[in-house]
Amino acid sequence: MKDFPVSQRSLVLPKPLNLVGNAFVPAQSGAEFEVVSPLDGLPFTTIADSGAEDVDAAVAAARAAFDGGAWSRLSAAERGRLMLKLSALILDHAEDLAQLETADNGKPIIQARADMQVTARYFEFYGGAADKVHGEIIPFLPGYNVEVQREPHGVTGHIIPWNYPAQMFGRSVAPALAMGNATVLKPAEDACLTALRIGELAVEAGFPPGALNIVTGRGDVAGRALSEHKGIDFISFTGSPEVGVMIQTAAARNFIGCTLELGGKSPQILFEDADLDAAIPFVVKALIQNGGQTCSAGTRALVHRSLWDRVVAEVAKTFECITASASDEDAVLGPLISAKQKRRVEGYIAEADAPLIARGRIASDVPVGGYYVAPAVFGPCDPNSRIAQEEVFGPVLAMIPFDDEAEAIRIANGTEYGLVAAVWTKDGARQQRVAKALRCGQVFINGYGAGGGVELPFGGIRKSGHGREKGFAALLEFSHIKTIVSNHG
Ligand code: NAD
Repeated sequence: MKDFPVSQRSLVLPKPLNLVGNAFVPAQSGAEFEVVSPLDGLPFTTIADSGAEDVDAAVAAARAAFDGGAWSRLSAAERGRLMLKLSALILDHAEDLAQLETADNGKPIIQARADMQVTARYFEFYGGAADKVHGEIIPFLPGYNVEVQREPHGVTGHIIPWNYPAQMFGRSVAPALAMGNATVLKPAEDACLTALRIGELAVEAGFPPGALNIVTGRGDVAGRALSEHKGIDFISFTGSPEVGVMIQTAAARNFIGCTLELGGKSPQILFEDADLDAAIPFVVKALIQNGGQTCSAGTRALVHRSLWDRVVAEVAKTFECITASASDEDAVLGPLISAKQKRRVEGYIAEADAPLIARGRIASDVPVGGYYVAPAVFGPCDPNSRIAQEEVFGPVLAMIPFDDEAEAIRIANGTEYGLVAAVWTKDGARQQRVAKALRCGQVFINGYGAGGGVELPFGGIRKSGHGREKGFAALLEFSHIKTIVSNHG
């Protein structure tokens, strides 16, 4: 860590402005609020504190772009080319963007650098896919031709969280643009600077006015105004289940569709024949990545009782060596996003209803105002205990022993969530059996990617939400089907 505050770092900061119809404009009220860095708890810049009137302007700009504007007149291939250009610009600016992400979100620079590669990949993948969404011909009655076409929804709203600000931008907005929608993004107030910078790069890439609009502000003001807006045709939300319910209610009132990605309590199941040398590093990494602030973090380790002592000993040894730090180059664990999140996670640790197995540390030289929490692992946890059921969204692992396959499946499926799971076993039949039995949206066998892979459809069931992001599945979410029946006699 450099021994000066984040405000004195040389960062390429976006202006505290919204992006509306390719113009960079302040909130109409002129209001701004301070952006605090989790690294030191100090303000280092400002963003626009937008109101409903700013959302109105952004939705109007998107509507104009979609209804006959330059955006609507581009071919799918031309849209794709613009997206590839933006992808290249993100890569050109990857280091500046990563430094900005670390300052704004607190994540270790190694992770921020990886995030920028993934963000560019979203625009590359969906840029390449833009002209590859084909329709179908359905055999029907004699004398008829039936075409099934995929059409964009129109104006799509996007509300994203603070945990992967740049990646979430790509994940949510890129497939919508590829399908030809005009978009309005409300990034999270806790971390949105890279989204604003990428907005600047989109204008530089040549996106026509109104294709991409960005309005910053508070969730219960700007976010709410966007989700309830009569002018949007679809909304995509990633965040807490509590807000997810509000988004879905607002969508229902507007008779529009939505996708919700609301987090999880994802299990990794280590059967008695698991390759522990391969599995244990994943048990730790799938949790520690991004400080546990990952919707698909592997937050429960289900371990066959015959392996329990060895796995606990090795996980404990690794956890004890993990140090939350502000180090620029070698940190694996940074601060949490905010004082609120730190309080929440510390509350879970203090009130955990299971024995503490091990705790990591906080480096002695972290800035006093930063939001650092030492990681913690608990076990044996009762599968129904709070620490094994609720999403902590911090570096806290719950370890749970089991005796047989049926019990492992029961425990794995025994929360309100269903996002991701991992199965560690060399037995091929068991791999298939358990993967089929798990109620969630993604299963890894002998591996774990916290949501990993831009190409891979991702999303959950029940309290984890519904709809799919990533892969071609996301293009389908951001479109609807039109069936055209021609009677040619
Ligand atoms: P949140 O749901 O409040 O915020 C997510 C996004 O929703 C932000 O952009 C926010 O501005 C917006 N928002 C907030 N209130 C809104 C409203 N009334 N109408 C419309 N938009 C609104 O999440 P949080 O408070 O930042 O975090 C709380 C908890 O949510 C975390 O501890 C974690 O458990 C969970 N979470 C999950 C994810 C995920 O990736 N699934 C991401 C962030 C947080």
